[in-house]
Amino acid sequence: MKREILLLGDERLYEISEDIKMEELSFIKEVVLDLHDTMMEFRKIYGVGRAIAAPQIGVKKRLIYMHIDKPVVFINPKLEYNDREMMEVMDDCMSFPNLLVKVNRYKRCTIKYRDIDFKECVMDLEGDLSELLQHEYDHLDGILATMRAVDDRSFYLKAESKKCHRDTENEEKRVVYGKIQK
Ligand SMILES: [Zn+2]
Repeated sequence: MKREILLLGDERLYEISEDIKMEELSFIKEVVLDLHDTMMEFRKIYGVGRAIAAPQIGVKKRLIYMHIDKPVVFINPKLEYNDREMMEVMDDCMSFPNLLVKVNRYKRCTIKYRDIDFKECVMDLEGDLSELLQHEYDHLDGILATMRAVDDRSFYLKAESKKCHRDTENEEKRVVYGKIQK
């Protein structure tokens, strides 16, 4: 079921989410379906959306749903940084669809998590995916990209028109920043 995405300024986005216990898995599977439906609806409107964190729909659980070419569920994820190399990126968020924020992210990281069957998994991430998962992971700790802005001039408004997002804005951003939006 499609759920409402909490928007920038909503107090609930700043809360720390709770670990998921194995006995909660059936509830978590329902939340995953909602995250999927919510993100697909967002994609229909804005033409972008690769991952979403449970707190964005008001569920205070450590759960991330990613769907690029296939669905991936991250339960109780932990990030590790094997090297300290950073990259500057223009970040965006489904909780503030018209805003871009310049932030620094680690170029590479490793994510340890449990999958939808509660099995332990590890994934090495680089570039776009590294940045994406750092962004989503922050949501679980109540941190938004706005709080990681490089400086006080790191905020950029996108064009208001939704049509513009689909047709030109998205294309333009891919060219300018050489990466795909969240
Ligand atoms: Zn976000």
